[in-house]
Amino acid sequence: MNTKNVSAVIAPASPHFVGDGFRVHNFIPGNPQLHMQRMDPFIMLDYNSKYTFPAAPEPRGVGVHPHRGFETVTIAYKGRVEHHDSAGGGGVIGEGDVQWMTAASGVLHKEHHEKEWAKTGGEFQMVQLWVNLPAKDKMSVPKYQAIENAQMLRVDADRNGYIELIAGDYKGQKGPASTFTPIHMMNAKLGKGGRASFEFPPNYTTLALVIEGDILVNQADKVAADHLALFDNKGSAFTIEATEEAVVLILSGLPIAEPIFAHGPFVMNNRDEIVQAFEDYNNGKFGYLED
Ligand code: MN
Repeated sequence: MNTKNVSAVIAPASPHFVGDGFRVHNFIPGNPQLHMQRMDPFIMLDYNSKYTFPAAPEPRGVGVHPHRGFETVTIAYKGRVEHHDSAGGGGVIGEGDVQWMTAASGVLHKEHHEKEWAKTGGEFQMVQLWVNLPAKDKMSVPKYQAIENAQMLRVDADRNGYIELIAGDYKGQKGPASTFTPIHMMNAKLGKGGRASFEFPPNYTTLALVIEGDILVNQADKVAADHLALFDNKGSAFTIEATEEAVVLILSGLPIAEPIFAHGPFVMNNRDEIVQAFEDYNNGKFGYLED
């Protein structure tokens, strides 16, 4: 079998706050080894490692802001978040759920801790990922997918555990999320000593983020909790083994291979399209959303 090797194991950067509700370590694109072109089609990855928020009378989070040209995917491991957007999408996601928002031509949205959860606070752990859209889909109609944990397909791992499939496929099974370009997204949930094997096309950008526990990749590379393993864009098969009970987010996607021009909340193909995005935003073309 043609092994896909780990090219780098990356430690979490010092955390910073996004609004007052998300204390994140930025992996993509802040780490020089994880810039947008290298990580195509994954253009941003913020990881809120386990963090305890105290009770708050008003939910913490991020107020109304725009996005255009890509999708935001929020994966909740602990805590509950509430989302609303100007296209009418929205809802609450809790432990194990995923929210997949296609901003495409443009939405305004806001993201907060869920009202009741905020009143007590507690342990919070999430991933926010931005998935780029190809030029032909950047100005398509916004959409929203709430993917509850119960909808995710569970496929047995090789030993002591299972794969929870969010998007793409795993060993012939298909995940519930619809994507614009080929993307495989899944959580490997393994008991101590558990083992899972994966196979993706060689050219796909592939990474593993360890949410809980410790793993050994290809029986060689140790990856600790809150660390990210980046794979070579060659070779296709790899294994992970849990040296202690583990949860691992696995992402693999076909590079879109188009120019990326990003500015703040907009990710387009060139500068003119970014200027247009600001103009449209200032002219109220992203709709309206109450703060
Ligand atoms: Mn946002």
